[in-house]
Amino acid sequence: MNVGFVGLGTMGARMAKRLVEAGFDVRVHNRTRSREEPLTALGAVAAASPAEAAAGADVVVVMVSDTPDVEHVLFGPDGVARGAAAGTVVIDMSTVSPEATQGFAARLGEAGVRFVDAPVSGGSEGAEHGTLTIMAGGSAEDVEAVRPVLEAMGSKTTHVGPVGAGQAAKAVNQVVVGGFYLAVAEGMALGQAAGLDMDRVLDAIGAGACRSWVLEHRAGNMLRGEYPLGFRLALHRKDAGIALESARRAGVSLPLAELVAALEDRLIAAGFGDEDVSAVARGVGLGHDRND
Ligand code: NAP
Repeated sequence: MNVGFVGLGTMGARMAKRLVEAGFDVRVHNRTRSREEPLTALGAVAAASPAEAAAGADVVVVMVSDTPDVEHVLFGPDGVARGAAAGTVVIDMSTVSPEATQGFAARLGEAGVRFVDAPVSGGSEGAEHGTLTIMAGGSAEDVEAVRPVLEAMGSKTTHVGPVGAGQAAKAVNQVVVGGFYLAVAEGMALGQAAGLDMDRVLDAIGAGACRSWVLEHRAGNMLRGEYPLGFRLALHRKDAGIALESARRAGVSLPLAELVAALEDRLIAAGFGDEDVSAVARGVGLGHDRND
């Protein structure tokens, strides 16, 4: 299978590497062209534009930042739409708006180009090891057609519904996980302020009802005031915005997601947007000298 891959950032570079290693013929393009070099060293072919990456490809994977970026890569002057032939399947694995996604699929469909939205969870580690969780939206036929490509990048691919459903599922994921981060931060702030031995507290509660990935992997960092990058806070704020817009359209109220987004806005304005999302703990006083 010939695969075009557009967007070699933190996630995309690792995912494209998995595809090369799995034996696909991969043609890569990145806006900052120097980021193609590590992939071409592994055997991928460099493409001068998204259109060139899509030309002759059976499948084109897109992994860029936000909704306008996907639109630009697909429909810009040298976009994927200019190069992809009828029958090609475009898989957008970026995290973007579900509503805009449906529009992208419809526009590509006018030329017979098929579309699957397949956002991921699992971070750069999951991308590196091919253990991403993939939420796929599209027709059953299209999702099955690209399953071998998805399975080279992820350990669990779920077909959640029609085009847009993958992005909608990812929004659910981001609402839940954002709430976890803030809840764990507040619990740690309370325990620390009460003078508790937090190692013992974590040992106790980690076996109970509040057991979670965030508690297990990030509570210690929060208590130490250390936020080494896993997932950038500014990217979570983007995803919270996508979820809140979908909620507004659906007439659903998400008070906790609103609170998380407002807190993240304050932290981004204060210069913490490039830290790990666990830095929401700064918003409840953790990670600071309490005498500051
Ligand atoms: P990143 O490291 O910031 O990389 C972004 C990529 O998009 C770069 O290749 C960048 O090109 C390209 N890009 C951005 N805007 C563009 C435009 N207008 N035209 C062309 N290319 C453009 O981001 P990432 O962490 O890989 O994340 C990619 C997507 O995956 C995002 O939607 C993110 O929310 C999602 N995601 C990330 C994680 C994570 O842990 N990082 C986990 C799950 C999902 P340049 O190199 O030229 O800047």
